[in-house]
Amino acid sequence: MIPSVLPTYNRAPLNFVKGEGSWMIEADGRRFLDLGAGIAVNALGHAHPALVSALTEQANAIWHVSNLYEIPQQQALADKLVDNSFADTVFFTNSGTESCELAVKMARKYWFEKGQPEKTDIIAFEGAFHGRSSAGISAAGSEKMTKGFGPLLPGFAQVTWGDLNALNAAITDTTGAIIIEPVQGEGGIRPIEDTALQAIKALCEEKGLLLILDEVQCGVGRTGKMFAHEWAGITPDIMMVAKGIGGGFPLGAVLATEEAASGMVAGTHGSTYGGNPLACAVGGAVMDIVADAEFLADVSRKSGLLRQKLEGLIAAHPDVFEEVRGLGLMLGLKCKAANMDVVNAGYDAGVVTVPAADNVVRLLPALNITDEDINEAVTRLETVANAVTAQAQG
Ligand SMILES: *Cc1c(COP(=O)(O)O)cnc(C)c1O
Repeated sequence: MIPSVLPTYNRAPLNFVKGEGSWMIEADGRRFLDLGAGIAVNALGHAHPALVSALTEQANAIWHVSNLYEIPQQQALADKLVDNSFADTVFFTNSGTESCELAVKMARKYWFEKGQPEKTDIIAFEGAFHGRSSAGISAAGSEKMTKGFGPLLPGFAQVTWGDLNALNAAITDTTGAIIIEPVQGEGGIRPIEDTALQAIKALCEEKGLLLILDEVQCGVGRTGKMFAHEWAGITPDIMMVAKGIGGGFPLGAVLATEEAASGMVAGTHGSTYGGNPLACAVGGAVMDIVADAEFLADVSRKSGLLRQKLEGLIAAHPDVFEEVRGLGLMLGLKCKAANMDVVNAGYDAGVVTVPAADNVVRLLPALNITDEDINEAVTRLETVANAVTAQAQG
């Protein structure tokens, strides 16, 4: 008999009933150090006082107002995002995949209004993840996500990750945009080289293409910059955001330049919940903390501390781990052992990590994780490595 919850997830038998900073408490009382942060969502950990008060104050004022009316919390958050990015304008969604939908629609509408409606095609990269909507799976294109869900949305092609020659060769007269994650998340924490992202930007300028960045996982301070593309010193035309921006409340956004957004006039797009007062009140509180030079510098400092300790862990356990990669607090441990064995041993050791493709274990802690918790995390990962080795030998 089918379970009452549609069984699309492989769930670990863990029931977290409370969260405090970087810790989660299981129903049986066990305490887990959270290096997953709800997959880069709980950017400021659990129960951050500023987020709790933003949410509860708004809940006591008004929960929901239709986009038929003014929503000052939405206006304030849009202003903060515009002030802290390349963007001139913002549309709010509830998730990454909804941001993907609008990014695709916006790019196509742009060319339609320019009198080049044939430029509907978007080139993406293998290993990409852009969400589970029809546009999202069509963009990523992997068999794992698309099989059985055809016909897919037409107009997408995928080239090998980071292969600029293949990218160049894939561009045709009907290409309108390129979409890329500056750091692939689900694909196994694969950052694109700064020089490669700069070359993609130059190619977009040369060929007159729109650059769409998917910063759903790597954005909002995760890499130690407000947005990951800032490391390469380039700007996109359109950017997808979600996950960390809501700090745990469902919120996403599409940021764009005035030019790229020029086709999106009244009536062309909408969302019932997108930009809801509760979501935007929390998003505003997240931005007030994260969009701060000192906070972001501290993310980079903590990244250095964690990485250095992880290098030691890898050196001590070459049978379990191969390398650490990533940017800021978006790190991936490429494993020699099966990544799920590492994740499962983590549950026994009270440390939560997240698997990714390419046999990687993701470490995506809260951006405000303390140095003490970083030390404790590595101690627990040490226990994990010993358990995985013992399991292999026994
Ligand atoms: C998680 C993710 C998405 C999809 O976001 P949802 O909120 O799950 O729809 C899209 N792109 C990237 C890079 C992601 O990590």
